[in-house]
This record gives sequence, C-alpha cells and structure tokens, in this order.
Amino acid sequence: MPPIEAEITPQTNIKELVAQLPVAAGVMNAFGLGCSGCGVSKYETVEEGARAHGLRIEPILAALRTARATGSVPPIADEDRRPARRAPGNFTGLAKIAHTVPIMSGKGGVGKSLVTAMIAIGLRRRHYRVGILDADITGPSIPKLFGLREPLAIAPDPVKTTAQGRPQPLITPAVSRSAIEIVSSNLLSDDEDTAMIWRGPIVAGVIRQFYEQVLWSELDFLLVDLPPGTSDAPLTVLQSLSIDGVVLVTMPQALATMIVRKAANLIHQLKKPILGVVENMSYFVAGDTGARYEIFGPSYAQRVAELAHAPVLARIPIDPAKATLADEGRIEQLDDPICNDLAERLLASIAAHPKPKETISLVEKG
Ligand code: ADP
Repeated sequence: MPPIEAEITPQTNIKELVAQLPVAAGVMNAFGLGCSGCGVSKYETVEEGARAHGLRIEPILAALRTARATGSVPPIADEDRRPARRAPGNFTGLAKIAHTVPIMSGKGGVGKSLVTAMIAIGLRRRHYRVGILDADITGPSIPKLFGLREPLAIAPDPVKTTAQGRPQPLITPAVSRSAIEIVSSNLLSDDEDTAMIWRGPIVAGVIRQFYEQVLWSELDFLLVDLPPGTSDAPLTVLQSLSIDGVVLVTMPQALATMIVRKAANLIHQLKKPILGVVENMSYFVAGDTGARYEIFGPSYAQRVAELAHAPVLARIPIDPAKATLADEGRIEQLDDPICNDLAERLLASIAAHPKPKETISLVEKG
C-alpha cells in the first residue's frame, strides 16, 4: 500500500485510501459516494467512483487533498455533488439501455429480490452502470435491501403530454450508495403526481411507465425484478419490455422443476432466451463444523438448467449474514464472490445470445 503522503490520483483505490486516511470517508460521503466502506468501493478507484455517480472528478480530488492537508472535510459546492444528469428537456422517453434482463421466479419467497441485488452488485464491481426496476409491485422489496426510503422525485415532462393533454410525469430514479439507480412503487409518495402514475393501475402499464418515463442514465444493464409466478402479471411485463433474456431463480424443491418447465415454456413462447438459472437457498454450511446440509432437499439446479436450456449461474447457500444485510438495508456491503460469479456468468450468457440491434425501450412514437 502506498504511504499516506503518496499522491491522490484518479487511480487511487477508494477503500485503500480510506484505510490510510479515515477523513477520506467523510469527503466521499460529502459527495454522495457513501459507500467507501462497502463491497463495491473495494474494487473501485476515485475515477471509477466519480464516473459511476455521474460526478466530475476534479472537485473530489481537490477535496481529498485538502482533507489530507487539514485533517477535516472541506466545504463542498452544491453543483459539485450533483450528478450530471441528462436535462429533462432533452429527455424523449428513449432511454438508452444496452441490456434489459428481467429476473423471474416460479413462486414468491425464493429470494428473487436478493438475487437481483446480488447480480446488480456483481455488475457494479465490474464498473458497469446498473439500474434496477422493481416491477414486483405486489411486494416491492428492492428499496429496503439498499436502505432507500426517500420518495422518488417526479416532475412534469417538459416535452411529452398524455392523451388528455396533461404533462407526463417524469421520474428521477433513486441512487444507491454504490450508484445503482432504482425505481420502485415502494418509493412513490401519495401526492398528486403519484395519482397520475397510478391512474389505470394495470401492472404492465405501470411498469412501462417505470421503464419509459424515468430519467435513467445511459445504463449498461437494467435488471427488472418481476412479480413472482407465471401468471399474467410477469408475462405482461415481459411482453412490454425489450429484453435480452430472463434469469430464473429457483429453490431445491421437487416442485421447482414443474414450475420451471412452465416458466421456460412461457419465455420460449416469447422467443426470448433464458440466460441462466440461479438456485437460491441451495444448501447450508454449518459455521462451526463446516458440514454441508441440503435443508430443502437435494439440488435440482442441473435438472432445471436442462429444462431451461440455460447454464446454472450460481448455487447460493442459505446464509444468515445475507439475510441480516438485506434486512438492514446494507446489501451493498455484501462482499461475496458469488456476486462476481453471477455477473461473470450472466455476461458470458448475454454474449452467447446476441440481442437484435435494438437498444431502445418500446415507446409509442410521437
Ligand atoms: P422474493 O423476492 O423471491 O420474494 P426475497 O429476495 O424477498 O424473495 O427473499 C425472501 C426472504 O428470504 C428475505 O428475507 C431474504 O433476505 C431471505 N433470503 C433470500 N435468500 C437468502 C439466502 N440465500 N440466505 C438467507 N436468507 C435469504
């Protein structure tokens, strides 16, 4: 590790810097990069952190150097801590999202949201720009995992109007500590704008609004946490988005193969690939003895993967530490190699299933 006197450069690793210079954590927090202690920043340089959060790097470097010289966090100008977002005036509803990947499960409670978060974290550690659309409007749990509570900012779209001639609502996504953009019905307040969003509360309609009427950054990946099951709700969401393919989350139960067969048929009918299968709560390793128990029965991951014609992205053990981080809204502190494996295997699967050259959401034209 370089000595504390070493030059602070764009390539300085955030976590190493904070270890040597604790006041640097305060500086990063002041810029809204509040994850200097988390699993993502361990892999991130100051430059990568600034880029992920849409901030200019020069003010951050200057503030870090001042903090090192004075021992305290200098005042930060408001415009330096504001991400450089696209101006709403330029927003045409054509979000530039390179890859859209819904996460599906045959039934609720298998850990679909946790797996979505883990994939997002794995992709962020590889410095991709990531968003999560929490489409599980029956039990939206993504904001809780990331400790987000502030209602989403909603403004009238300066360009687009509804059929009734009223401005369309334009939503700014919440941004997690490690710069994952998040939109969820759980982050809507009860004011008038919200009422506008919820008029005609048809799941697919709402989800399309979340997809199209959001000022997403230019994302590399948008993960969509689908409603559980294989009913109309997830299906209509799948049909209304321009997706690369689907990730299926299961648990090791005999029923899983039946559910997966149904889900696989459904996805294949849409002529989309299943990009991978994740078996969650696959086994439990006792901390004291290291013994491995298959609590929910033997793994069906391989069988499920055959049915789905897709690779197994990961088998995730039951892990009380994950449940605690999830409960406390600190999931980004999860530093588990499974997040990296998930991301790596998903990237390989996406590369093996090139999407038709269409990187734009389905938007009604004009
Ligand atoms: P779903 O989105 O499928 O309904 P969640 O992701 O909300 O499921 O998970 C349900 C509950 O199980 C949550 O409390 C979550 O923290 C916990 N959980 C999920 N996966 C694991 C795991 N591998 N180890 C421990 N707890 C888990």
